[in-house]
Parts: sequence; C-alpha cells; structure tokens
Amino acid sequence: MSTGRGFHGPADLHLHSSRSDGTETPDAVMRAAHFHGLRTVSLTDHDTTAGWADAAPAAVSLGMTFLPGMELSARHAWRSVHLLAYLFDPGDAALAAEMSRIRDDRVGRAERIVANLSRDYDLTWADVVAQTTIDATVGRPHIADALVARGIVADRAAAFDGVLHPREGYYEPHYAPDPVTAVDLVVAAGGVPMIAHPTPSGRDRMMPVPVIEELIAHGLAGFEIDHRENTEAGKRVLRDLVRRHDLIVTGSSDYHGAGKPNRPGENTTDDAMVSRIIARGDGSAPVSP
Ligand code: AMP
Ligand code: FE
Ligand code: FE
Ligand code: ZN
Repeated sequence: MSTGRGFHGPADLHLHSSRSDGTETPDAVMRAAHFHGLRTVSLTDHDTTAGWADAAPAAVSLGMTFLPGMELSARHAWRSVHLLAYLFDPGDAALAAEMSRIRDDRVGRAERIVANLSRDYDLTWADVVAQTTIDATVGRPHIADALVARGIVADRAAAFDGVLHPREGYYEPHYAPDPVTAVDLVVAAGGVPMIAHPTPSGRDRMMPVPVIEELIAHGLAGFEIDHRENTEAGKRVLRDLVRRHDLIVTGSSDYHGAGKPNRPGENTTDDAMVSRIIARGDGSAPVSP
C-alpha cells in the first residue's frame, strides 16, 4: 500500500451514493468515477460513513486511491453550510454522536415537509420511504424522487425550484450544528475540514469573511473552489483568503448519480493538494491499490 507522497492521479473528492442522496450504490459510484478517468476519489455522503466499507474495496480493485470522507451538515444563520471532512476517525464518539443527531432529525424533518405537502398534493410518507435506501441519510432529494414517482414534478431540479424551495412554504429545517462546532468536531476527530461549494448564489450565499476567518482559526483547511455552483465573484474572494492563510483548494463534481447533471471529474483536485490533505488528516488512512 502506498499513501501520502507521490503521484495520486486525477482526483475527485466529492461524490455521493445511495447511502445519502446519490442514486447509485457506493461501488457503482466508484465504477462511474473510474469510467470518467479518475484515479483518486472520496465518497462524501451527507452525515454518514456508511458507504466506506463498500466503496473502499471497490475503488482499490479499480486501481484508485480512496480517501474516507463525508459532507457534514452545518448552519450559519439561515444558510445551509456543507463541510467536507476527510480522513477523520469514524469511531470518534463526539463526531459520531453529532452525525447521528443530524441524521435522526432529518427523518422527522422530512416527515414534516411531507405532512405540509400532503395538504396540497397526493404524497405520503410511504412514497418517500420507497425512494430511500435502508439507513440512508434522508433529504429533500428523496422527497423530490417521490414527487417525480407521483408525476407531480418532472425531476429533482424542478422539485427544488418549485415546492421544495423555502419560498413555497412547505420547507422545514433540520437540526445542524453551527460551522465552528462542526469544524471543531472534525479537527478533534483527526479530520481535514473544507467548506463545500462555499459561494453559491441565492439563499446559501457565502458566509461573511470574518466568519470564515474564525473557522480558519479553528482549523478549517480550505475551500472547494472549482465547483459548478460557486460564483466567479465569490471565487475571487476565496482565492484571496487562500493566499493570505495558505489554505488547501479542491475542485470536484459533487456527483449524485442521476440526481444531478454533475459528472465525475468535471472538476478535479491537484496532486499537491491531495498530498496536503493526506499529510494533514490522521483520524483514518487513505487506501491505495
Ligand atoms: P437537504 O439537505 O435535505 O435540505 O437537501 C439538500 C440536498 O439537495 C443537497 O445535498 C443537494 O445534493 C440536493 N439538491 C439541492 N438542489 C438541487 C437541485 N436543484 N437538483 C438536485 N438536487 C439538489
Ligand atoms: Fe446532496
Ligand atoms: Fe453540498
Ligand atoms: Zn455534496
């Protein structure tokens, strides 16, 4: 096994499987990544590590290096903030407890959204359960899939632009820690925390720079800058922070199988940055062929 230094190859460190809101099993995600020419991958399901056990051996059997990862849900004011976390210890009690608190609360929250929708649409909780893999982290994408199955909307994107958008009045929030707590938990578990898609347009737009600098002081490692949802203006602000604080930068697809148009490898992370993530994380180890 070789890890750490040296050549890693094209890297996409942000991929989702059916253990959260992706539409493919973990090993199918690894096959899709390999098909698109990737040699270094991470599975980053929302608030869970359940896919690692299947994804890691699948990646290695295809000749790819696998970095254990996750996308942890946090919230700053009204904003949903997603924290990519790499190489943390999945057995860390505090982090694991927070992850299960978020996952559990997501279930009740999804039931509340469905109850709201059922006032106006023919949709039941059973419809949503039918779209969800056992033990998956439940999210609005599963409700979107149920709406598609019922013929109420055409696809996930239409659901998010329509009834699942907070402005439509059916939305409910789920529990999520503030970003400082989230960064502290990942760092304490030996992991490397990076902000996912830090500068989208709209409601989840970038956190104020002083808030981001507080996160850096708590051990935030860097940003996912090359991501289709980031604005150009926001990326300039982030690149300035990267220079001033010597941060790590990634680029990734945020692949969700058929759930989004994003394709594996549409953005990639430089080798030198992969090496820095590996050097910094010590809660779990990358797995290589
Ligand atoms: P939730 O965390 O349950 O509020 O749902 C947010 C998730 O929905 C994100 O992780 C995205 O993967 C997904 N999502 C957001 N917008 C869209 C969209 N327009 N099309 C498909 N999936 C989306
Ligand atoms: Fe997602
Ligand atoms: Fe995200
Ligand atoms: Zn994601």
